[in-house]
Amino acid sequence: MGQISDRVMRLAASATFAMSQKSSELSAQGVDVVNMSVGEPDFNTPDYVKEAAIRAVNENYSRYSPVPGYMSLRDAIINKLKRENGLEYGPSQILVSTGAKQSLCNAVMTLVNPGDEVVLPSPCWVSYPEMVKLAGGVPVVVKAGIDQDFKITPAQLEEAITPKTKVIMLCSPSNPTGSVYSRQELEGLAKVIAAHDGIYVISDEIYEHINFIGGHESIAQFAEIRERVVVINGVSKAYAMTGWRIGFMAGPEWLVKACGKLQGQYTSGTCSVAQKAAEAAFNGPQDDVEKMRLVFQRRRDLIVSLAKEIPGFEVNTPQGAFYLFPKCDSYFGKRDGDRVINSAEDLAMYLLEVGHVATVGGTAFGSPECIRFSYATSDEKIVEAFRRIKETLARLK
Ligand code: PMP
Ligand code: GLU
Repeated sequence: MGQISDRVMRLAASATFAMSQKSSELSAQGVDVVNMSVGEPDFNTPDYVKEAAIRAVNENYSRYSPVPGYMSLRDAIINKLKRENGLEYGPSQILVSTGAKQSLCNAVMTLVNPGDEVVLPSPCWVSYPEMVKLAGGVPVVVKAGIDQDFKITPAQLEEAITPKTKVIMLCSPSNPTGSVYSRQELEGLAKVIAAHDGIYVISDEIYEHINFIGGHESIAQFAEIRERVVVINGVSKAYAMTGWRIGFMAGPEWLVKACGKLQGQYTSGTCSVAQKAAEAAFNGPQDDVEKMRLVFQRRRDLIVSLAKEIPGFEVNTPQGAFYLFPKCDSYFGKRDGDRVINSAEDLAMYLLEVGHVATVGGTAFGSPECIRFSYATSDEKIVEAFRRIKETLARLK
C-alpha cells in the first residue's frame, strides 16, 4: 500500500461499478440476479451508427485523430448544439473526449486549484466528489432531500458560495434522482452565479434526451453567465453507446484549449472509429432516440407504481434519466436473524444476497437514507425485481 500515491489512496472506488461487479460475480456462480445497479441503456446501438463505424474501419480511420476530435465530428456537435439547444459554438470551443466522464474530469482538473471549493448539489453522481478530490479541491455538498424533489434552491446556492468557490457542478436530468430542473429553476440559479464573478458552471447534460417533461433546458442559455458555463454531453445514454466512449465539452475557448492541452498529455484524441460512429449518431435520423425515451418513460411509470407498493419506501416521480431513488431509512435498525440493516449499503447488500436484486446504496451519492435503482432494464425484470424486493423486505423485523 505504501507505494500508492496519497491522491489515489484518497479516492473512493466507483460504487456503481462495484455493485455491478458484485452482481456479475453472483451471476457467474449461477445465481439469477436482476441487475438494477449500473446505469446504462439495455438497448443496442442503432444500426445506422454501427454501419458508420464499419465504414470507418474499412476506410482506414486507424491513425491518431486530432486531440480535440475530428473536425467533422466537432461540426456535427456544433450543429446538434444549435439545432437541439439553441446554443452557438465554434470548432475551437468543442473538445471530444473518452466519454463524458473524461470531459467532466478534464473540466475539473483544468478549473480547480488545490483548496478551491466546488459546490455539489446533492444527491449527485458518485464521480463528482472524487474528481474534485483528485484536483485537490474541496467538495461543498448542498443537500436537497426528497421533500424538495432533490433540487437545490437559489437561496441554498447563495448560502454555499464563499470567496473560495470556483465551480458548481450541475446535473439535469439527474443521476441518481431523475430530477429535472425547469427553465425557471435554472434561471434562479443562474442569477445567483451571475452575481459572483469567477464562478464557473460544469453542466452535465448527459441525460438530456431521457426527459419526460418536454424539452431539455441548459443553464448555458442564460447570456449573463454563458461565458462561464461548460456544457458536458455525449452519446452514451441517448444513443445507447456506453461502450463506445465518446463525450464532449462545449465552452469558452480558453478553457477548451487548456483542457485539450491536458488531454494531449493524458489520452490524446479518442478512438477514431468511435468518433465516426458518434458523428453518424448526431447527424442521422433521431427516431431511435425518441423510441428509447418512450420506453424509458413507460418503465418509469411502472417502477414508480411498484415502488410505491413497498412498505416504508418514500418515492419521488423522476422526470428524466433512468433512476429511481427512494428513501428507505425506515428499514434501518431492522433485522433478519443475525443480520442487522444499519445503512442503505447494508440494505443494498441484503437485497443482493438474499433477494438477488442488485442496486446501489445512496451514501456514495451523498444520500445515506436512499437507495438507487436503475430501470434501464426490461418491464419483466422490473416486475420480477420488485416481487423479490417486496418478499425480501417483508422478512425484516
Ligand atoms: N455523468 C453522469 C451523471 C453519468 O451518469 C454518466 C454515466 N456514466 C456520465 C456522466 C458519464 O458518461 P460517459 O459514458 O459518457 O462517460
Ligand atoms: N453512469 C452510470 C451509473 O451511474 C454508469 C456507471 C458509472 O460510470 O459510474 O451507474
